[in-house]
Amino acid sequence: MLYEKQQGSAAIGRRSCLVLPRCWICDQVPSGGIRDGIRLKKAFICSGCERIIVQSDVASGQYQIFINRLKKILL
Ligand SMILES: [Zn+2]
Repeated sequence: MLYEKQQGSAAIGRRSCLVLPRCWICDQVPSGGIRDGIRLKKAFICSGCERIIVQSDVASGQYQIFINRLKKILL
């Protein structure tokens, strides 16, 4: 009971100081905010794009587009 209450207030606290990130790849703001994806240096990648990157075929054109974008973040 007490644990639940603490968890609830922590979630509210996080939400109040939440800065909504914009995905570096698809340019969308994920509904779950900063927790709905990964941060890569200063860039943010939403969980949807993260999944696409992980599942992309290395030989596919889509994968190359992602890699080129990621290079801009990392280099
Ligand atoms: Zn995205």
